[in-house]
Amino acid sequence: MDFSPELSEDQLQIKEWVHGFAEKVVRPAASEWDEREETPWPIIEEAAKLGIYGWNFMAEAMQDPTGLTLPVAVEELFWGDAGIGMSIMGSGLAAAGIAASGTQEQIMEWVPQCYGTADKVMLGAFAASEPNAGSDVAAIKTRAVRDGDDWVLNGTKTWISNGGIADVHVVVAVVDPELGSRGHASFVVPPSTPGLSQGQKFKKHGIRASHTAEVVLEDCRIPGSCLLGGPEKLNERLARIREGKPGNAQAAMQTFEATRPSVGAQAIGVARAAYEYALQYAQDRVQFGRPIIKNQSIAFTLADMAMEIDAARLLVWRAAWLGRNQKFKNAEGSMAKLKAGRVAVWSTERAIQILGGNGYTREYPVERWHRDSKIYDIFEGTEQIQQLVISRAISGLRIE
Ligand SMILES: Cc1cc2nc3c(=O)[nH]c(=O)nc-3n(C[C@H](O)[C@H](O)[C@H](O)COP(=O)(O)OP(=O)(O)OC[C@H]3O[C@@H](n4cnc5c(N)ncnc54)[C@H](O)[C@@H]3O)c2cc1C
Repeated sequence: MDFSPELSEDQLQIKEWVHGFAEKVVRPAASEWDEREETPWPIIEEAAKLGIYGWNFMAEAMQDPTGLTLPVAVEELFWGDAGIGMSIMGSGLAAAGIAASGTQEQIMEWVPQCYGTADKVMLGAFAASEPNAGSDVAAIKTRAVRDGDDWVLNGTKTWISNGGIADVHVVVAVVDPELGSRGHASFVVPPSTPGLSQGQKFKKHGIRASHTAEVVLEDCRIPGSCLLGGPEKLNERLARIREGKPGNAQAAMQTFEATRPSVGAQAIGVARAAYEYALQYAQDRVQFGRPIIKNQSIAFTLADMAMEIDAARLLVWRAAWLGRNQKFKNAEGSMAKLKAGRVAVWSTERAIQILGGNGYTREYPVERWHRDSKIYDIFEGTEQIQQLVISRAISGLRIE
């Protein structure tokens, strides 16, 4: 075991490279795209030209044996802005969904199409949630029915990042309703497939540059080859479950498990942005004839922020390493995501307090960071669902 949190030369270069993009391109544009509540296409295109948005970068990061390259890069990008960051990283959830369940050929065919090229940027979306199936993923109703060589999908997905504007949608659907959550499978819906459309686009509290919408599937016909993992694997799995033998985790859960460390890293990026801003502000702002940082209540808050952010990052890095090199034992992915989300919400709220009236206005970025931070208590498993996963892992009991 090595406790020195030293990054390799390559990782330090990537960190600096992504930080430069976040500082020069993302952060200056953050307020504008937050107000516009639209996908920041020019910035995604710029990221694609630089190689920050694209399958090659993701593939390189995913091959890194330490697992740390991705969270390190993600923290820097989200330090720039979480809304724009989600627009750039949102395709990663679709890519993770394909990587979690797909065959090698499917991964090679579809993951690059979640990103496109520098000249023709494409997006991916991962659609699991439904109006009556958020935390309770088992309650998914979207149905996939075999029809000859094809599958036909019907249902409504909701709160989907890049939903309806993505080129590649990965959809989790029920193939055998009698088997509950173990009767789910994941499908790729190829670009421009008839029967897939965008429903309501949501106006949100934070990460407003990231598109979130319903995805409506009406007799959406896709080729048999779009079943991730292929028919033999599915039939084998369903047969095992029908015989009462243990089956794999839910298709959606496998994806969320894999992405939790980098979602935690997103939250840390937001928390660090607020901490750094508040630290500088507290040194510059003078009240009662001295910088406000000279008051212990302010300085101690900043000390706690620095400590909490470091603690959260260590949990995220541990989870990222375990995720790559071993399996999680005590829900370390959930611990990392839960802690990072809480730290982001708390740090950004404290940053508003340190900035006082200025912190409460849209002239300063901390109110946006606070709005953005709240999503980390909600998506990819709420705070309570992470607690549920952790409590089950540590107790071995079926906590409800
Ligand atoms: C901006 C945004 C982007 C999103 N992107 C995607 C996406 O790309 N793809 C996708 O599939 N989904 C996406 N989601 C959906 C997201 O994952 C869900 O919102 C989330 O899982 C929570 O589900 P819910 O909203 O139905 O809340 P509910 O499940 O209704 O939960 C409501 C409250 O009850 C609590 N609760 C529920 N069950 C329990 C329990 N058993 N024990 C204790 N407390 C419980 C929850 O913690 C929460 O506080 C996104 C959501 C948002 C807001």
